[in-house]
Amino acid sequence: MAIEYEVRDGALVWIKNPITGVISYVVDVRGKSFAFTLGGREELAPDPPPPDEPTLRKAMVACPFCPGNEAQAPAELMRVTPAEFPGWTGAGKIEGVSWTIRVFNNLFPRIPEVLTGGRNESYVVVEDPRHFLDHPRSVNDLTFTGALGEEHFFELIKMDVRLMRHIFTNSAVHSVVIRKNQGRESGASQPHPHQQLIGAPSPLPVIEAEARAQAAHPEMWHELIELVDRLGLLIERDDGVVSYSSPIGAFPRSYEIVMPEYRGLLTDLPPEELRRFARTLYRMLKILGPLPLDYEIHQGAGLPLHAHINGRLYPYSNVAGTLNLPSVLPSNVAALRKALARN
Ligand SMILES: [Zn+2]
Ligand SMILES: [Zn+2]
Repeated sequence: MAIEYEVRDGALVWIKNPITGVISYVVDVRGKSFAFTLGGREELAPDPPPPDEPTLRKAMVACPFCPGNEAQAPAELMRVTPAEFPGWTGAGKIEGVSWTIRVFNNLFPRIPEVLTGGRNESYVVVEDPRHFLDHPRSVNDLTFTGALGEEHFFELIKMDVRLMRHIFTNSAVHSVVIRKNQGRESGASQPHPHQQLIGAPSPLPVIEAEARAQAAHPEMWHELIELVDRLGLLIERDDGVVSYSSPIGAFPRSYEIVMPEYRGLLTDLPPEELRRFARTLYRMLKILGPLPLDYEIHQGAGLPLHAHINGRLYPYSNVAGTLNLPSVLPSNVAALRKALARN
């Protein structure tokens, strides 16, 4: 069976997510007020007072992911040193810093250790030592992934691969998910930019549901890509890697990066293809900038390697298994494509 949807006069009216069964209806929300959802974001005020040095320092002293506070975090497992990463844009900006990316166990394992052979298989990857952007205009001007640069993001993905190899030395682990929360609205518990890797005894429920849907509709991914292309939602295509604005995402602004022909793990991807996947994902993160978002990289279980990015600055209202998609989505995608072309 094919993906169920309805198009009238060339525009999508509704589409059913073949994995969750949730139906997205396309509606015109241009007149809708987002004041309540966006309320309380004082960093959006046009001219916030510039933060004073002591305020910034206080935030960094309290941050377990900041350089100098390494002892506050669990024991380090891996790092990338500045010498190993000559292109690092933070060089010379933090005195005496000895790492650019750092890995340790998450203090709070997502999955109880007893289920993964007595080993904590939840990890934190600190993406960069810099807590704040170069010239913060407020204490909310945090470093974000999109500001790190494409080369840095590739280093980060290579670190994920290295860490995955470590995780898979535990024979109780059969699946690894990579997760990122950026910004308070996305549920991030630490302001300092970091990823999480979670090793699980079996594919986690969403992956399992995706694999089930794929078994029922083997052409699901190709159909979806063909459909988003037809609807003007395709963002980029780079030799085996496709990105698009997803009409079946969990939020009104959800994006997917998919390698439809590659059904393996990040660890088995040839370096050039790994770079292409990282680059396409990074380009989306760069365009979204400091906006609150989350992303997950899903792999294994026979699925094409893919990532979901959710923009989190928009109201989330799942009513009885229905979502609303803004009718302006194709014009947003056109603007995204234009912005990417300028980069
Ligand atoms: Zn920090
Ligand atoms: Zn997925």
